[in-house]
Amino acid sequence: MDRRAFLISSFGSFAALLPSSGWALPPPIKPKARVIVIGGGMGGATVAKYLRLWGDAVAVTLVERNARYVSSIMSSLVLTGQRTIADLTFGYDTLRNRYGVEVIIDDVSEVDPTRVAVKLTSGKQLTADRIVMAPGIDFENIPGLDDTRMPHAWKAGVQTDLLAKQLGGMPENGVVLLTVPKMPYRCPPGPYERACLIADWIKTTKPRAKLILLDTNPDITVEKDIFTRAFSGPYAKVIEYRNDVEIISADAAQLTLSTNAGPVRGDVINVIPPHRAGALVAASGLIAGSERFVPVDVLSYSSKAAPNIHVIGDSCATTQPKAGHIANQEAKVCADALVRIFAGGQPDPSPVTNSACYSTISRTEATWLNAVFQFDAATRSMVAVPKSLAASQNWTAENFKDMAKWFAALMADTFS
Ligand SMILES: Cc1cc2nc3c(=O)[nH]c(=O)nc-3n(C[C@H](O)[C@H](O)[C@H](O)COP(=O)(O)OP(=O)(O)OC[C@H]3O[C@@H](n4cnc5c(N)ncnc54)[C@H](O)[C@@H]3O)c2cc1C
Repeated sequence: MDRRAFLISSFGSFAALLPSSGWALPPPIKPKARVIVIGGGMGGATVAKYLRLWGDAVAVTLVERNARYVSSIMSSLVLTGQRTIADLTFGYDTLRNRYGVEVIIDDVSEVDPTRVAVKLTSGKQLTADRIVMAPGIDFENIPGLDDTRMPHAWKAGVQTDLLAKQLGGMPENGVVLLTVPKMPYRCPPGPYERACLIADWIKTTKPRAKLILLDTNPDITVEKDIFTRAFSGPYAKVIEYRNDVEIISADAAQLTLSTNAGPVRGDVINVIPPHRAGALVAASGLIAGSERFVPVDVLSYSSKAAPNIHVIGDSCATTQPKAGHIANQEAKVCADALVRIFAGGQPDPSPVTNSACYSTISRTEATWLNAVFQFDAATRSMVAVPKSLAASQNWTAENFKDMAKWFAALMADTFS
């Protein structure tokens, strides 16, 4: 399959079947099953929509703490002034009005896996046949880290605007520190592409400045050839890449990070701390010991510890990358499995997902990387199909334009 057909097959099919306007799917009057979805991001919004599309008589309640969702995808372009947070903001009106999802803006404070019930901060309690959790990520603690002085900007919104402002105010010969957390983390190419974007911006706006990329991992974690060429080519005089650097603590007053390789000082410090599943999943007893993400059965994304609770997106532990595109795919596998289960059947025994990923190498050029994952019965995991693995050989302006189309299609499939 060629690349354009691949992208269209990722999202295009169902959108194309729907009438363009005046169409609505009201909530079922006599529901056959009830599902509570926690978190209205890339995974949660998609599973809510597709449960309603595929499960006519399934009542869906989505609980999300923010009235509007800000996409982290594309958010590094806010740092270079090419996008705004407003461009990346999506609401829940279509899920509510078109798909008949009950949307509650509130914070889930407790999940009871045995009763299949949730408590909201407002005091409200809800019960269902199944719960789908998609609360994204939270960060592990780094002693001394102050995210107003050293923003992560890894959950887009105020943090992204803050980092953009700090970059704008940086001295002409300033030093930017950017850290890469240990794997697994959301958007594997993300920190490297952010380094490239900032470096490209530095070259024209503050040519005496530089960026030090402190990678906790032993090596560049993805697209190594591309990023190595970018770091040693157009950004050789701007980016200094250091691997195996663990951040031990931060001193916000001195703008210094203490690392296993000694102290490092910067003028603007973008620390992306190590990730773990959204705090709520750990509090719900779905994670054992030192695990950071929730073990799931990838046929339905049901938690291995609590079968009536399903976990999708960045919070679950699978062999697929932590990415919005994959969260959207996991949501569809989960919605399909639930609809089959409610009808008295079993989940599809051989699900397939796909991942498309673009990395910005400059403010006008990007690369791409594709993979298809298929269920492997022997390991009960999603395994990349070798023939499907494909990547661009270089960064181009055409890829940058395709990236905008891919993003629009992904967000439309999730929120429209
Ligand atoms: C800079 C950057 C660039 C990226 N680029 C790409 C890219 O190019 N392609 C790609 O595929 N992915 C990309 N990603 C990754 C992508 O953003 C995530 O993988 C994706 O958002 C994960 O979806 P999710 O549903 O698991 O979590 P999220 O989208 O983060 O959604 C979680 C939602 O849960 C809500 N929530 C959490 N706890 C509660 C609670 N207790 N009660 C109620 N609501 C709650 C949150 O408010 C949030 O809305 C990028 C990420 C970053 C940071």
